Amino acid sequence: MAPPEGPRAPLEFGGPLGAAALLLLLPATMFHLLLAARSGPARLLGPPASLPGLEALWSPRALLLWLAWLGLQAALYLLPARKVAEGQELKDKSRLRYPINGFQALVLTALLVGLGVSAGLPLGALPEMLLPLAFVATLTAFIFSLFLYMKAQVAPVSALAPGGISGNPIYDFFLGRELNPRICFFDFKYFCELRPGLIGWEAILTTMDITHDGFGFMLAFGDIAWVPFTYSLQAQFLLRHPQPLGLPMASAICLINAIGYYIFRGANSQKNTFRKNPSDPRVAGLETISTATGRKLLVSGWWGMVRHPNYLGDLIMALAWSLPCGVSHLLPYFYLLYFTALLVHREARDERQCLQKYGLAWQEYCRRVPYRIVPYIY
Ligand code: NDP
Repeated sequence: MAPPEGPRAPLEFGGPLGAAALLLLLPATMFHLLLAARSGPARLLGPPASLPGLEALWSPRALLLWLAWLGLQAALYLLPARKVAEGQELKDKSRLRYPINGFQALVLTALLVGLGVSAGLPLGALPEMLLPLAFVATLTAFIFSLFLYMKAQVAPVSALAPGGISGNPIYDFFLGRELNPRICFFDFKYFCELRPGLIGWEAILTTMDITHDGFGFMLAFGDIAWVPFTYSLQAQFLLRHPQPLGLPMASAICLINAIGYYIFRGANSQKNTFRKNPSDPRVAGLETISTATGRKLLVSGWWGMVRHPNYLGDLIMALAWSLPCGVSHLLPYFYLLYFTALLVHREARDERQCLQKYGLAWQEYCRRVPYRIVPYIY
C-alpha cells in the first residue's frame, strides 16, 4: 500500500534494518536479563548458563494470570473517572479526552491483591513464573502490534504519526503508524503506558510518547513487557543474591531517590501545567521565549536549568534503584546504563523535533540553556 501523503520524519533507529534488528534484540535482551538474574554468577555480559526449553517458557497458568491482570486493569480503566483531562491539540485541531483514574486503579488493585493474599493467594510463586509471564507478554506485544498496524491501515491520514508513515512495513510496524489508536473511548496507547506495566505516571499527556510517537511495537513491547520485566531486575537479582544494607547506606539511598523524584516531578509538572494553561499562577511568572507557532518555551524554572531536567531526575532515581544491590555485580546496574543511553538518544530525537517545530526560537533556547541533561557536564 502506498504511504499516505503528509509530513514525514527522518528515519530513526537505523531505518528498516535497525527496526528489524530491534524486533529481535529487545525480546532477546529481556530474556537474557531474566535468565542472568536467576543464575549464580548473574553475569550481565556473556551467554546465560543454560537456555530454557519451551516447557520453561510456556505455561497455561501464566497465560491465565496475564489475561486476568490485563482484564482487571482494562475494567478499572473503564470505571467512571472523577476527572477527565484534554490532551494536546491534534493535527485536525481536535483534542482527545482522557480519564484520570490511575490512582483509583492503583488503590483498588492493591486492595484486591491484599484480599487475595489473605485468602491464600500464593503471591510467593510469582518470581518462579516470571519467565512464562514474560513470554506471554512478549507474544501479546507482537500480536497486539500487528492488530495496531492493521487498524492504522483504515485510520484517516490526520490520525497517523509522522514517524510511522515511511511506507516500509517493518519500520512502520516497529515505530507505530497511528498516533492515538482508540476504539470508542478506549485509548490503547494511554492504557498500555499507564496500566498493565507501570501504574502511577502523571502529567503524561504532554510527553513525547503521547504527543509524538505512533503506537506500534516499540511502545507496546516497552509498556507491557520490557518495563515490568527489566525494570524489576534489581528486585529479581536481590531475590537470589541478597546484599547487606546498613541503615546509613539505606538512608543515603532514600535521600538520593527523594532528590531525583523532586526534580523529576517538579520538572514534569511544571511543563505540564505550562502546556495546559500558561496563565496558571504556578507558572505565569516564569520567563518564556515566543515561537512562530504561537506556543512558548519556558526558559526559567526547571526548564531554564537544563533542557531536559525531567531526564536528570529520572536518572538520579535510576541510580537509587540500583544501589541497594551493592557493587559486586554489574547486572543490577543494567537499568542505569541502558536508561542513560535511552535518554541521551531520546534527548537527541526531541532536539531534532523541536528544532524542526520551533526553528530560530529553539536555537535561542539552546543558546540560553546550553546544557542538555546534566548542568555543566552534558
Ligand atoms: P518530555 O516530557 O521531556 O517532553 C518533551 C517535549 O516538551 C518537547 O517535545 C516539547 O514539546 C516540550 N518542551 C521541551 N522543552 C520545553 C520548554 N523549555 N518549555 C516548554 N515545553 C518544552 O518528553 P519525554 O516523553 O521524553 O519524557 C517524559 C518523562 O518520561 C521524563 O521524565 C522521562 O524521564 C520519562 N521517560 C521514562 C522512560 C522510562 O523508560 N522510564 C522512557 C521515556 C521517558 P512541545 O513544545 O510540543 O510541548
